Amino acid sequence: MDRVVVVGGDAAGMSAAAQASRGNHQVDLVVFEKGAYTSFAACGLPYFVGGLVPEQESLVARSPEQHRSNGIDVRTHHEVMQIDIDARHRHRRTDADLDRRRLVGG
Ligand SMILES: Cc1cc2nc3c(=O)[nH]c(=O)nc-3n(C[C@H](O)[C@H](O)[C@H](O)COP(=O)(O)OP(=O)(O)OC[C@H]3O[C@@H](n4cnc5c(N)ncnc54)[C@H](O)[C@@H]3O)c2cc1C
Repeated sequence: MDRVVVVGGDAAGMSAAAQASRGNHQVDLVVFEKGAYTSFAACGLPYFVGGLVPEQESLVARSPEQHRSNGIDVRTHHEVMQIDIDARHRHRRTDADLDRRRLVGG
């Protein structure tokens, strides 16, 4: 089974996660996002600031819950503090370390 860690749950990270989870192969995938949001349309921020988009949540293309319902293990409020490429460990602010084979920076 492929084992993949994605750091960052915005455009690049969630695209990579979605790509990794597609197909018939088995993948053990986890996404660590330090913030509260995933798939956040930063490009729309000027419209929010200008009042054209009233709710900040409207800029979220896909929430963590929606990603989870698609089978992607997204862990928000999890900041990756350190990556030890040789030992293949990540040190996070919360939880215990996890071993993963592939690492994707989003
Ligand atoms: C005002 C504005 C207008 C824009 N307009 C356009 C446009 O018209 N067209 C266009 O193509 N692009 C535009 N962009 C840029 C576009 O939004 C970015 O290219 C896109 O957000 C990049 O996505 P990303 O996933 O690569 O990086 P980011 O959006 O930077 O995502 C990185 C994610 O990783 C998380 N993260 C970072 N470090 C850690 C860590 N140590 N542990 C865990 N999580 C971590 C962050 O919280 C973040 O969610 C615009 C951006 C802004 C701000």
